[in-house]
Amino acid sequence: MLPVLHVRAFEDNYIWVVRGTSTRMAVLVDPGDAAPVLDALPRLDLAPAAILCTHHHGDHVGGIAELLRHFPGLPVYGPAHEAIENISHSLADGDRVDLPDLGISFRVLEVPGHTRGHIAYYGHGWLFCGDTLFSAGCGRLFEGTAGQMHASLARLAALPADTLVFCAHEYTLANLRFALTVEPDNAATRAYRREAEALRTRNEATIPSTLARELQINPFLRSAEPDVRRAAEKYAGVALPDSVSVFAAVRQWKDNFR
Ligand SMILES: [Zn+2]
Repeated sequence: MLPVLHVRAFEDNYIWVVRGTSTRMAVLVDPGDAAPVLDALPRLDLAPAAILCTHHHGDHVGGIAELLRHFPGLPVYGPAHEAIENISHSLADGDRVDLPDLGISFRVLEVPGHTRGHIAYYGHGWLFCGDTLFSAGCGRLFEGTAGQMHASLARLAALPADTLVFCAHEYTLANLRFALTVEPDNAATRAYRREAEALRTRNEATIPSTLARELQINPFLRSAEPDVRRAAEKYAGVALPDSVSVFAAVRQWKDNFR
């Protein structure tokens, strides 16, 4: 059984619970709300060993204070370049999170774009990428530029193809509707939509995805594809000279997509 479990929060957030090997301890990723975590941990027979957060938005960090009241002294890891209360360990690019008692070790990647200081955690073939890369989508550019986000996504896309992508939201079906508007003839996207619809009909998560899949279907990782460029140029009404401008146009298109 995959030692990464999810707790649902709010409308469509996933709080990831990474179970340590041979312990009853777990790491919580982006606990935006404490209540569903406090409800789930006893059911899973797990206690938290640490909190990891990816960026400062409330739906990712809102549960930290309450969790610390229940588990005083719990280490809280988060981005060095964002102001987040209760962070005990500030992380910058290339830093590591090593929890030997749990057999867990992650490398930190700075992936600005959605927010200025957003970080992702990579290890054991798992990627916890918060609101940077979604299945079939990517985060909105609230603080960063299209160039920053494009570079951040390129870094994530360069990880091994079998990497499991644990993003923080169940946005997949809505993202696929947009992806198929950009690339209506993408057979992999059509096949994945059928699979995702079946999962959601059973109220199951479509996450984790894999990087291999995202490279085939995610328009935000496919700015260099001729079909994506053509669709983006048609939307923008101008020639787009490089993949950053294609990415920027696709992001703007998605922002306005209903
Ligand atoms: Zn966010």
